[in-house]
Amino acid sequence: MGKVTHIWQTARDSSQQKLAEEKQAILAAIVASSDDAIISKTLDGIITSWNQSATKMFGFTEAEAVGKHITIIIPKERIDEETMIIESIRRGEKIDHFETVRQGKDGTRKQISITVSPVKDSKGKIIGASKIARDISARAEAEKQGQLYMQRLQELNKYKDDFMVMASHELKTPLTVISANLQILQMMLKADSNLPFLDKTIKQVNKLSALITSLLDVSKIQAGKLALDFTLFDLTLLIEEISSNLQQTTSNQRIIFNNRREILMAHADRERIEQVLVNIIGNAIKYTHDSGEIIIDAGKNGNDIFVDIHDNGIGIAQEDIDNIFLRFYRVSGSASSFSGSGIGLYISSEIIKSHGGKIWAESKIGSGSVFHFTIPAV
Ligand code: ADP
Repeated sequence: MGKVTHIWQTARDSSQQKLAEEKQAILAAIVASSDDAIISKTLDGIITSWNQSATKMFGFTEAEAVGKHITIIIPKERIDEETMIIESIRRGEKIDHFETVRQGKDGTRKQISITVSPVKDSKGKIIGASKIARDISARAEAEKQGQLYMQRLQELNKYKDDFMVMASHELKTPLTVISANLQILQMMLKADSNLPFLDKTIKQVNKLSALITSLLDVSKIQAGKLALDFTLFDLTLLIEEISSNLQQTTSNQRIIFNNRREILMAHADRERIEQVLVNIIGNAIKYTHDSGEIIIDAGKNGNDIFVDIHDNGIGIAQEDIDNIFLRFYRVSGSASSFSGSGIGLYISSEIIKSHGGKIWAESKIGSGSVFHFTIPAV
């Protein structure tokens, strides 16, 4: 009976040993074929195994590396890292994706990411460490290049912004002088038959001046320097004033303001809100065919003041509706038929956003558009 047990036990031991050997062979094959360098070492730092990728990465053959100290691949200034790694391993802690630099046989430095895990014997005692190293030089180089490009791009962008500020300032100064002199001439030539030419010139100068002011605003927004000067004012009065001023510029469209009675106290930058209103109502006039109607609603909705500007103009296609608030965006068809620069709505949206409000549009081609904006009420 005892003999049978012994034979059975021996057979079981040998099949278990076979299994263990097979497992060992599979693991060895995985280590050998891995693209990552896999190295093991004792707690004293003596290399005990070294796979093919380690040879490829560091230049030492297995025969050259095994038995040597791990410091053969550690640059002098990073020797302390090894002490830190071994201390962690002794405590049973794993080191995950530690990005560092190691050196090859020929002294070339490599940017690598290492993961070091404790190796335990069958009793669970830590007897060494296994280290998996991945060459990240290409990634690190690409990141460095990316950073350099980004830095260069930021520099160029800054040059462009500085240039825009400088050019706009320089253009504005002579233009102001031209404008003032033209106005004097206009007063002097009151009864002259050439006055219409002068009037036209003044109109164009005013357009140019407005464009330069807008470009300066864009530069300020880009630089995060759009300063707001908050005051307390009644938005109803402001809308009334703007509507009647803009009504003077068009005899075809009727501008109707619905909420004349309600006082809408706002704590905002009056000039900037005026700029938004002039731009949206101006667009409503510009993009509405003759004999259109522009209806303005304004009121309070919870903690917000809302303003809605309806027109029955050409309308905007659905795919363009969100883009019209982007810098320099113009709807392709209207770009050729109407003059404009595509910056008015961008500036308006930045102004409203910096007041903590919202701006959006709804529209249907051929039927017209509604532009909405809100700002916090007092
Ligand atoms: P601009 O009018 O100078 O081109 P904006 O930034 O004010 O620039 O407007 C961006 C674009 O949005 C315009 O080019 C136009 O295509 C479209 N748009 C704006 N308002 C209206 C409107 N009321 N009706 C139709 N299209 C409009």
